Amino acid sequence: MSAQIIDGKTIAGKIREEIKEEVENLKKKGHVPSLAAIQVGEDPGSTVYIRSQRRSCEKVGIEYKLHQFDTTISQKEMSEFIQKLNGDKGVSGIILQMPLPQALDARTLQATIHPDKDVEGVSAANMGMVVFGRPILGPCTAMAIMELIKSTGVDLYGKEAVMVGHSDIVGKPTALLLLDKFVTISVCHIATGERGTLPEYVKRAEILIVAVGKAHLIKGEWIREGAIVIDVGINRVEGKIVGDVEFEEAKERASYITPVPGGVGPVTTAILLKNTIEATKLRIR
Ligand code: NAP
Repeated sequence: MSAQIIDGKTIAGKIREEIKEEVENLKKKGHVPSLAAIQVGEDPGSTVYIRSQRRSCEKVGIEYKLHQFDTTISQKEMSEFIQKLNGDKGVSGIILQMPLPQALDARTLQATIHPDKDVEGVSAANMGMVVFGRPILGPCTAMAIMELIKSTGVDLYGKEAVMVGHSDIVGKPTALLLLDKFVTISVCHIATGERGTLPEYVKRAEILIVAVGKAHLIKGEWIREGAIVIDVGINRVEGKIVGDVEFEEAKERASYITPVPGGVGPVTTAILLKNTIEATKLRIR
């Protein structure tokens, strides 16, 4: 039987509708949610992402302001600019677009963003709340993955899940969020791949999440019958965007699967907006 497609665009649309209402309520009380984006240089991928962020913000009534800098900006200057935004009452959330030039230390600059304005949820404070099971501004992609899984209506208690990829912003927080739902989770990474045991893990997964960035790394035949498959990967192959999972083959074995594009991506952006609303509320608390 062919899997049900988890439509990220529809889920994102529903989240945006809820946000729209919240924005209207906040504005009635005189609070305008606003997102400040910082871009250094002109990376084309980042420019596409910025355009989509701006459109999404406009749709729900969040103000979006882009601050662009030349690649010659120093760490100190950038840090001072972030501090200025931290102190600006008109700014609800700050997003530092990647990639940054080599001369800038992304981790240190991200840590400069005040946790209450860290709408990407990547600061130590916000990641810490994930560990405690009480995310406030949660990491966007991990929170989006949880929304996509929730949309299936499947009871997660006791299920066996496999997270492929252990990045700080996707793999690790997703594993923690699932753990909090009493899912038994294995986290795979490059060493699992090198040891050759990745297929064994994937074959056990009732819930499979893949965030690696290697086209078709996960073979369709590895997918457990009836699995929920969340494909986070974004890869360009012959001019087309594809995920990390062999979609057509996996679809024949899974019960639910996310497409790429149109799965995780739109929901991640919707969570960014949701976090901006939460950040606005934190500011006026
Ligand atoms: P990342 O930081 O590069 O992490 C990739 C992970 O994959 C690492 O943990 C790496 O392990 C692991 N890995 C590499 N080769 C492997 C293999 N052969 N077998 C098993 N694990 C392997 O990337 P990321 O930021 O998490 O992003 C992953 C992908 O998701 C990218 O394609 C990115 O574009 C996409 N993404 C999409 C969204 C969205 O909203 N749709 C958001 C974020 C990211 P080691 O570190 O040990 O090498």
